[in-house]
Amino acid sequence: MAQLGTRTAGETQTDRHIAMVEEHSAHNYAPLPVVIARGEGCWVTDVDGDKYLDMLSAYSAVNFGHNHTEIREAFTRQAHTLTLTSRAFHNDQFGPFCELITSITGYDMVLPMNTGAEAVETALKTARRWGYEVKGVEENKAEIICCTSNFHGRTITVISFSDDPCNGPFGPFTPGFRLVKYGAADALETAITPNTVGFLVEPIQGEGGINIPPDGYLTKCREICTKHNVLMMADEIQTGLARTGKLFAVQHENVRPDVLILGKALGGGVMPVSAVLADKEIMGVFDPGSHGSTFGGNPLACAVAMAALTILTRDNYADRAAELGTPFIERLKTIKSPLIKEVRGRGLLIGIELKPEAGGAKKFCKKLKEEGILCKESHDHVIRIAPPLIIEQKDLDWAFERIKRVLEEA
Ligand SMILES: *Cc1c(COP(=O)(O)O)cnc(C)c1O
Repeated sequence: MAQLGTRTAGETQTDRHIAMVEEHSAHNYAPLPVVIARGEGCWVTDVDGDKYLDMLSAYSAVNFGHNHTEIREAFTRQAHTLTLTSRAFHNDQFGPFCELITSITGYDMVLPMNTGAEAVETALKTARRWGYEVKGVEENKAEIICCTSNFHGRTITVISFSDDPCNGPFGPFTPGFRLVKYGAADALETAITPNTVGFLVEPIQGEGGINIPPDGYLTKCREICTKHNVLMMADEIQTGLARTGKLFAVQHENVRPDVLILGKALGGGVMPVSAVLADKEIMGVFDPGSHGSTFGGNPLACAVAMAALTILTRDNYADRAAELGTPFIERLKTIKSPLIKEVRGRGLLIGIELKPEAGGAKKFCKKLKEEGILCKESHDHVIRIAPPLIIEQKDLDWAFERIKRVLEEA
């Protein structure tokens, strides 16, 4: 499978590409030293011909694997037909997309955007406007509650309520947000005031370190939001669309948020497609001109998203993620290493948290790369394992042996 060790001495293609990036790209990322040139299913090949198992899936954007036939066909068909009209006009992919995504999610209406951060911004605008026009909060007084160690994107407003110390200095920040401890429903209730319009939460925190809240947390948050007339907004950009073994991670607790935020896998691993979903009483607050996006709802994005949503439900990826992920998590727990603090996960969203004395997860991700596995640390001490949901058992077995060896030999 992995064909490692084939490189000759001297400058490799990999070195050349990395030098170009180092020289001419902003240094806002610290990627592993691998330059991917091709992808097929769960496997990618780098510019020097080495093959790796992708166990990150572009942070869950590639849930259906690389180069999925039906997604690629939908993309190329639409690329040859019509790609962009703007919403100044209708296009013939948008209506069917709206109908499909609302029927799958069970909400009345959708507002399409492109990136995840834009969808989060859209949800925040929805909650504020709903607060003023429906709940009756005095203008400019709305408060939105968010959680500690959240990740909702990179725009100025979104990082205004992040407590990640890496996020700065970029102030002054957008006011109107409060942070409460993730996983503590009581803290949410205490923080609510008559001006609170929304509560934004990730059902499992992906970037925060694969943090799974205590059982019953989402249910309690739902009750508290209902009791105080506050919109519960679930950011399912990473956890949604089958990743955790349910179509949406809130379904582990049978919770229905007022506002559902989707992104990443919605674009089928091909292009950025995000969406905010809510019922009429909430999404109805937008009127023409109050929000928009030149590319949001474009026919190419709609065609790709429809292909992704169709295979997602038809091929039952949620069950697949649970069937493959649950035993894999149990197996990872059998790895005997004094460096492991905890193995946790749901479906195929898995974190291996290392003790601080292990010296950080990054060096283990580098070692796994040498073994032919690509994954990425989540925060400093967590190795995140999130392969495409199309992964096969034999590939998981192959990966397990290598993860075990790297951790046990350390
Ligand atoms: C990735 C992510 C975002 C941001 O999405 P972008 O497309 O990178 O803007 C927001 N929320 C969560 C939970 C995410 O994982």
